[in-house]
Amino acid sequence: MSSRVVALPGDGIGPEVVEAGLEVLRESAKKYALDIEIEQYAIGGRGIEEYGDPLPPAVLEACRKSRAVLLGSVGDARYDSNPHHLRPERALLQLRKELGLFANLRPIKCHEALTFASPLKPEIVKGVDILIVRELIGGIYFGEPRGLETRSQGRVGFNSEVYYDFEIQRIARVAFEASRSRGRRVTSVDKSNVLESSQLWRSVVSEAANEYADVSLSHILVDNCAMQLIARPRQFDVLLCTNMFGDILSDEAAMLTGSIGMLPSASVGGETALYEPVHGTAPDIAGKGKANPLATIASVALLFRHSFQREDIARRIETAVEMTLNQGVRTADIALPSDQVVGTRGMLDSVLENLSLIR
Ligand code: NAD
Repeated sequence: MSSRVVALPGDGIGPEVVEAGLEVLRESAKKYALDIEIEQYAIGGRGIEEYGDPLPPAVLEACRKSRAVLLGSVGDARYDSNPHHLRPERALLQLRKELGLFANLRPIKCHEALTFASPLKPEIVKGVDILIVRELIGGIYFGEPRGLETRSQGRVGFNSEVYYDFEIQRIARVAFEASRSRGRRVTSVDKSNVLESSQLWRSVVSEAANEYADVSLSHILVDNCAMQLIARPRQFDVLLCTNMFGDILSDEAAMLTGSIGMLPSASVGGETALYEPVHGTAPDIAGKGKANPLATIASVALLFRHSFQREDIARRIETAVEMTLNQGVRTADIALPSDQVVGTRGMLDSVLENLSLIR
């Protein structure tokens, strides 16, 4: 199997945080004598600038041949009025689809040292440890028919939520399997009181649960789930969601941790997996060296865990992040007004220093 990792920094703060992630990746590879080859390509807005294409075919091919892809984020307001195929976001949607990455894993963990950073009370968020499993290449973001038209009654915009049973089965299995290395509790999110696609979702997830007698399954309507995430987030272990519900709920859940700059994600399902921070390109702080690199560094931990099956390396990185937070090192997004703030480089240096202390 290839030991090549493709880095796609993308736009805005993407290049800043990916460079930090790559430093941690190189340090780990060196320490464990792993021969990991890294290639870098421009995608998104930068892809449009360099090649006139947000995801040039040669870049997609390089990703296909790699073991893992580390992505920053894509999005640039300069291209907002471009047609769909020439928008930066197309790079990400196409990459997920072409690599067959149907499952997005988003761990939402509230670090003890950061309970104050959440807009919710510390006693509500303390100990939160949720894994959101989001279906990634189906549902309303891809369903046909879709379009914008002018009809006799006026202009109309329409999209379709389409799920086949096999798409639901395979994502449900990912959630049940993942729960086995956690609390063995899966909560499936739907809107089955209104949507037929959700009725199928609920029944296929229930059927899939028969193969996992050791895992408990419950169902929750998405509106109630949004409320429960704020009221009693500790009740959840694994949340299984459609593409759109997962997109929305994972950003809501991100705020339990205080900053979206803390959250990593892994997209799996095909031969090559994709790792990326949950946050976007943060144009308000791009190029200023202020971005929090921890979400990308934690994504590198996931890359070692899932693509290289190196739990030891993943844990070492996660421990270094935990030590750094316990030492009170803070980028602006996770700082109290009285804290001394570091930039991307300062945070990275602290993580590297802590890594050097771990055997
Ligand atoms: P965003 O995540 O970029 O920013 C939201 C807020 O969080 C901003 O105030 C930003 O400064 C802050 N923030 C985000 N990441 C941070 C970090 N690492 N450190 C410190 N602060 C951080 O979301 P947005 O403003 O809605 O979107 C901006 C652009 O990013 C848009 O073009 C959008 O399409 C794109 N986007 C891309 C992805 C992706 O590539 N996966 C995801 C979300 C948004």
